[in-house]
Amino acid sequence: MHRHYIEPSRLQSPTLTLVKDEARHLQTVLRVREGDVVELFDGHGLTAAARVAAADRHGLQLELTAAPTRHAPPTCALTLFACVSKGKRMDWTVEKAVELGVQRVVPVISDRTIVRLDEADAEGKTGRWTRVAIEAARQSHAIWLPEIVAPMPLAQTGPLLHSCAPVFVAALVPEAQPMRQVLAGIRAHGALPATAGWFVGPEGDFMPEELRLLRAHGAIAVSLGRQVLRAETAAIWGLCVLGAEWL
Ligand code: SAH
Repeated sequence: MHRHYIEPSRLQSPTLTLVKDEARHLQTVLRVREGDVVELFDGHGLTAAARVAAADRHGLQLELTAAPTRHAPPTCALTLFACVSKGKRMDWTVEKAVELGVQRVVPVISDRTIVRLDEADAEGKTGRWTRVAIEAARQSHAIWLPEIVAPMPLAQTGPLLHSCAPVFVAALVPEAQPMRQVLAGIRAHGALPATAGWFVGPEGDFMPEELRLLRAHGAIAVSLGRQVLRAETAAIWGLCVLGAEWL
């Protein structure tokens, strides 16, 4: 069944109208016709089947076939902190992070982040990554749409770091412990954390004082092995490992 994202408040009504632009993907790409049934999801835990009551050049009229279904939130809310990478790499990171079930993406500007954003760029990028996230959620049958936070300097991530525990930072320093070892320690305590954070550095790596700051906020430095991965690979690596463990 084709899926379509709808803003949370709109699933309260049993009938809804999708005007031209909103209906474009369903009408022109998926070629939905009168009588077809589509699945609507609001990214906040509600899904509903809806029948196309009318389709014309003005858009689509939809009627819910039953009351929306409420789904439980994920067992562990994962947050990805990713230093903003160049060009399409960040889009790709956001897309894969959503497929892997993150609940929040925090784009970070660190000292060696090459990308520089003014306020307008930051707003534009947040909107763009949100659209990427909606599309990834649609195609991966996600029920919960992750929040895409506006890009922020690494020095200001403290409160968000404290909103998840444990937080791991992928660190290219000799004292970083293998992820396997760190997870074995947590498993030994029988803990199933309700939240977790995964922090990855930029193409140019963290500055030593940035790593010190993250660790002072409680982030555990972990190693992904002896090879140096690109930032986006490191982001996916951690989300796969944490997903296998706690999702
Ligand atoms: N340009 C740097 C590498 C940066 S890799 C250099 O050549 O040394 C980008 C980010 O990916 C790093 O900041 C780190 O967060 C993560 N990363 C990549 N490989 C890693 C590994 N083997 N262990 C831990 N973190 C890693």
